[in-house]
Amino acid sequence: MPGADSRTHSAAGPARVVATFGRRFTLALPDGREVSARVKGRRLHPVCGDLVDAEPLEHDPEWVIVAIRPRRNELTRPNLRGRVEVLAANLDAIVVVTADLPPPDWFIVDRYLCAAELMGVVSAVAFNKIDLGELHPASARALEEYREAGYVILHTSAREGLGVDALLDFLAGRRGILVGQSGVGKSSLVNRLVERSLLPTAEISEKRREGRHTTVSSVMVALPNGGAVIDSPGVRDYAPAVAEPAEVARGYREIAAAAPHCRFTDCRHLREPDCAVKERVEQGAISSRRYESYRRLLALAERLDRP
Ligand code: GDP
Ligand code: ZN
Repeated sequence: MPGADSRTHSAAGPARVVATFGRRFTLALPDGREVSARVKGRRLHPVCGDLVDAEPLEHDPEWVIVAIRPRRNELTRPNLRGRVEVLAANLDAIVVVTADLPPPDWFIVDRYLCAAELMGVVSAVAFNKIDLGELHPASARALEEYREAGYVILHTSAREGLGVDALLDFLAGRRGILVGQSGVGKSSLVNRLVERSLLPTAEISEKRREGRHTTVSSVMVALPNGGAVIDSPGVRDYAPAVAEPAEVARGYREIAAAAPHCRFTDCRHLREPDCAVKERVEQGAISSRRYESYRRLLALAERLDRP
């Protein structure tokens, strides 16, 4: 009996949400099959990357999502009604895409990297459009400073397909997203990754097709090395929320690494005596641009923190 057969599959473990179109979903079952699903009730809001418990229906090819497993992390943004909207869940990696065109804002890159650090995911900076020629000296310097702070740096050209293998390698075994300023080439890079994906492009564009009554759709594209990239307009345009003031320093790797050497355990690295961070900035071991960026983000966080 086919119904009984699929019911045994529902007990085999949670399914992964691999595409969303409003209130409709595509699930990857533990056995590798993909099925479409809806949710039971209005209370559940699954997103791409979620692990869910789902059950097949008796006389219907659709499945029903009955529960969302606890999330390891969430990518969120405030929506227009002042509530927090979850864009994706259970991420492993964030790739911050940047380029010399449009002119880069390194403070924005720092904010993405800070958010990634606080979410507990690995991050990389992908400098795209290298086909345009020599990097701007300020960009070359900024990338070198990130590398020295311990971040992974990739050089890519979505136009010429350069560095796409390195980007694939970075995403191996990881569920990742590409974020960054508008116009840096995120969609173009995702398209390059999709070309290497496990699914034929037609099947993915079918998944990407926005439902008639839905506004946001997102899709998770499986890559050949066990990785995946989650893509949607919302994910690509995601701007990180400002962290709690006490958390900001943890989002700057080189500052977090120096902080245990400060005299005060609650040192904010501003005007405190015997501050290891300021010492390293003076010695040139921590980039002064990154330090100023830290101070700027901390000031922003403190302004927003005030009741
Ligand atoms: P997004 O807004 O970050 O998703 O950026 P898009 O992928 O839409 O690309 C923005 C513009 O940059 C488009 O005109 C692309 O053709 C162009 N672009 C993207 N990647 C490259 C690249 O590697 N080299 C060059 N020269 N142009 C690129
Ligand atoms: Zn300090």
